[in-house]
Amino acid sequence: MSVIPFLDLVSQHLELEEDLVSVFRSALEKAGFVGGPAVEDFEPAFADFCHVRHAIGVGRGTHALRFAVKAAGVQAGDTVLTVPNTFIATTEAISQAGARFDFVDIDPHTYTMDPVKLAEYLETRCTRGAGARGLVSTRTGSPVTAVVPVHLYGQMADMDPILELAARFQLLVVEDACQAHGATYFSRSRFRWFRAGSMGHAAAFSFYPGKNLGACGEAGAITTDDDWIARQARMLRDHGQSAKNLHDIEGYNGRLDAVQAGILSVKLRRLETWNEQRRERARAYDTLFNDVRTGVTLPHTPRWSKPVHHLYVVRVPDREGLQKHLAAAGIATGIHYPIPLHLTRAYEGRGYRASDFPIAEQAAREVLSLPMYPTLSAESQRRVVTEIADGLSLTPAVA
Ligand SMILES: *Cc1c(COP(=O)(O)O)cnc(C)c1O
Repeated sequence: MSVIPFLDLVSQHLELEEDLVSVFRSALEKAGFVGGPAVEDFEPAFADFCHVRHAIGVGRGTHALRFAVKAAGVQAGDTVLTVPNTFIATTEAISQAGARFDFVDIDPHTYTMDPVKLAEYLETRCTRGAGARGLVSTRTGSPVTAVVPVHLYGQMADMDPILELAARFQLLVVEDACQAHGATYFSRSRFRWFRAGSMGHAAAFSFYPGKNLGACGEAGAITTDDDWIARQARMLRDHGQSAKNLHDIEGYNGRLDAVQAGILSVKLRRLETWNEQRRERARAYDTLFNDVRTGVTLPHTPRWSKPVHHLYVVRVPDREGLQKHLAAAGIATGIHYPIPLHLTRAYEGRGYRASDFPIAEQAAREVLSLPMYPTLSAESQRRVVTEIADGLSLTPAVA
């Protein structure tokens, strides 16, 4: 029995081996390892890819998000709204920027921030405070100044209503685009498509190896159209320097490696093709599942969304049972994410309880991520779907 991995980076690297090795060779020859020309080449190329004016390379996606939140103007003690069903890096970055996070629930079909829940939070769980920064959360007791929608599994959040609420309540919007390089969204109000990373005041990308665009190590980037935010982000990543030895603010050591930047430039040239291959694989799964009618809930793609399928996530009632069945059949799967953040141990004692965010909680119990990568074979996909159909009919009905 051959094993079907969850993710396959090796075939991608073998295909690009010569180019990747020459990146490393050139870094050795120049002895330039941090920042420099390789980073300066990659940044405008990635900015073009995202249809924005600035991309700022940093050491990892979590840095990108922290710097984006700070650079956009979130102040210490502010409340920043996000969703509970994301990787903990989202809330870590908000906390490490000095702010407090709070949650709104998700849409049950797309798993991204539900704009209706956001409106409800802003309209019913905040009071008008004194002064210019007017909206105060009754839960956190501090001003709500920003929102971080997460473009989960490669699909953008419903940005039109989020941006409209943000404008109405004067909130900053920082996209967590760490899973959505190249995803697009059709704005009904502006009547055109937008790329992930180009809709908010700023956005954060991760180039962790398993992401759609991955380094051979840690890396990330901030994107923005705003010159001031770009300048702040550049200073934050490099000890607050505006020029050598001029530390305008206190920053971080958050720079991007030259080797990683070179590798990212090589891989960026393939990203459109890889994303298209992921879309083909997603369509193939959809078709296979529709043929067997397994009762599996498939990923939902609204008309306004063109996702890049970082993950292909289905929902099943007995997720644990099915995952075991698949593992026994040599099929690797993942769960993104099993514990919603408001119930994770790190956030015990913050006043959250089970049933606070029922949609996110139910998703956490039922989601299962299937193997998904550009080189996934049609044969493997057939086997995955056959084994799922098999596993589900073996599941005893609950008495
Ligand atoms: C990967 C990821 C991050 C963090 O990126 P790192 O590069 O691992 O620091 C943040 N948010 C989401 C949604 C992610 O998937």
